[in-house]
Amino acid sequence: MSARIAIIGAGLGGIALATLLRRMGHQATIYEQAGQFARVGAGIQMGANATKALRGLGVLDRLRQIGFRPESLLNRDHDTGAVSNELPGGEALELRYGSPHMCLHRADLHGALEALLEPGTVQLGRKLARYEQAGAGVVLHFSDGTREMADALIGADGVHSTVRAQMIGPDLPRFTGRVSHHLSGKFAGRAAQSVAHQMVGAGPAHRDLLHHRRTR
Ligand SMILES: Cc1cc2nc3c(=O)[nH]c(=O)nc-3n(C[C@H](O)[C@H](O)[C@H](O)COP(=O)(O)OP(=O)(O)OC[C@H]3O[C@@H](n4cnc5c(N)ncnc54)[C@H](O)[C@@H]3O)c2cc1C
Repeated sequence: MSARIAIIGAGLGGIALATLLRRMGHQATIYEQAGQFARVGAGIQMGANATKALRGLGVLDRLRQIGFRPESLLNRDHDTGAVSNELPGGEALELRYGSPHMCLHRADLHGALEALLEPGTVQLGRKLARYEQAGAGVVLHFSDGTREMADALIGADGVHSTVRAQMIGPDLPRFTGRVSHHLSGKFAGRAAQSVAHQMVGAGPAHRDLLHHRRTR
């Protein structure tokens, strides 16, 4: 049976989900609050489990062209820079887990996933305000006063999810004591000579520095 499925949010999750649901024969539509896609985010890394899923979506070959496999995953002490742990990456890690560990900019991953979507799947400039159950379906109410009907609603609207807030109530993040600083860009001097991927972490304040660098 083909269902009309409304997905709120055209981030990485919403786009990947819509692609899969459409392949299963459902009428998946994404409603995204932004008026256009922008190049937002930072460098991200994906382990073999994630790249296996991306291979299933048919996008891994494209990602190999725009991302890179770090040759080494390094952990260093925050204050001395001494290497505390090193895991070989690149070919060795790919052979071990059957799929690559990859680094790339989030916007490049988003663009590669977006290219999989059939035209008309995403409706931009549609901000969900609330939803209501209507019999076996759901009515979506948008902030501009428009409405849509669907058989099912999926919230993929990120960390400040409107869908989740209405479904299970307001929630606040719980601070775990860890802070992660991400850098991406061009590096000079010692940093440029370092391995492709570097972590400096486990200091008294539990700060991590992730440094992704292209090797080519
Ligand atoms: C600095 C940083 C580094 C990260 N590094 C990594 C990493 O190395 N590896 C990794 O796997 N992950 C990483 N992550 C996490 C990863 O980026 C997120 O888990 C992922 O982007 C979440 O995707 P999503 O689709 O759930 O949400 P999002 O990408 O946040 O997308 C949500 C979408 O919903 C839209 N939206 C929100 N509310 C509404 C509404 N009411 N109506 C309509 N649309 C709405 C938003 O505009 C947005 O487009 C990192 C995150 C950050 C911030």
